[in-house]
Amino acid sequence: MDKEVLKRYIKAGRVARDALEAGKRTCGVDVPYFNVVKKVEKIIRKGGAFPAFPVNVSVNELGAHYTPYPGDGKRFKVGDVVKIDVGCHVDGYIADNALTVELETNRYSQMIRAAEEALDMAIKTIRPGIRVKEVGGNIERVINAAGYRPIRNLTGHRMERYILHSGLSIPNIRRGREKIEEGMILAVEPFATDGKGKVENSTKGEIYILRGKRKLKGEEMIFYQWLEENFNTLPFASYWCCAYSDDHIPELRRLERRGAVMSYPLLIEEGRGKVSQREHTMLVTDNGVKVLTA
Ligand code: MN
Ligand code: MN
Repeated sequence: MDKEVLKRYIKAGRVARDALEAGKRTCGVDVPYFNVVKKVEKIIRKGGAFPAFPVNVSVNELGAHYTPYPGDGKRFKVGDVVKIDVGCHVDGYIADNALTVELETNRYSQMIRAAEEALDMAIKTIRPGIRVKEVGGNIERVINAAGYRPIRNLTGHRMERYILHSGLSIPNIRRGREKIEEGMILAVEPFATDGKGKVENSTKGEIYILRGKRKLKGEEMIFYQWLEENFNTLPFASYWCCAYSDDHIPELRRLERRGAVMSYPLLIEEGRGKVSQREHTMLVTDNGVKVLTA
């Protein structure tokens, strides 16, 4: 990998890790979700990076894709199993990492540890030439051995400049013949659950992505172009549009009805089990990986 590109990946990795740690320290009983999100974003900006996607704060049976909506007053409760998922980029080079905390109880410590140990195992497994099913198989084995199930329809992913999910998936079960190659940047993210091991779409979420501006005109086109300048190919939060205007939500919904933007549905565990997650971003080297978010 080009030296200058690697430098930016290393910086993005360090900032993403620091921001995630700050989010973890902010998280606590009675704390508003928004406090965690704002803290994480502040650390990202102070570090000279930009968010690569909205901070995901997915609690208990939600696997992913929750971010607060404008005016969201939701606070954490005792016993919550909180996944914080943070991504940032430096000049488009993305680092993505996540962790899980349980607030003031210890019922899910083993399940949280299972996702962490599965990630450690994946890190030891990955090297050029290995097939993704071997990585997924090892993740699955570690989580099963702890008495939990991996979530089979959530995966890690390859990343490329300004592209969060660039084709190659790193499964959490033994599946997929694709080979991992030197120089790839991978986000590996085991999920463990005491439910069915699968997520399904729930209600509408507040994370959006642009889909295309055909058929737009006037004010709609101006708003879309603002979104394009600010977020480009990367996901964004509805509340980030407050920077455009105080009353942006109806405009965003209108763009959604026109098919110009789409929102990601919340992903909920099918058996309504609790979910834990751990994630790191890594560079595949000639003989293994270099973890960028450690
Ligand atoms: Mn992530
Ligand atoms: Mn990811």
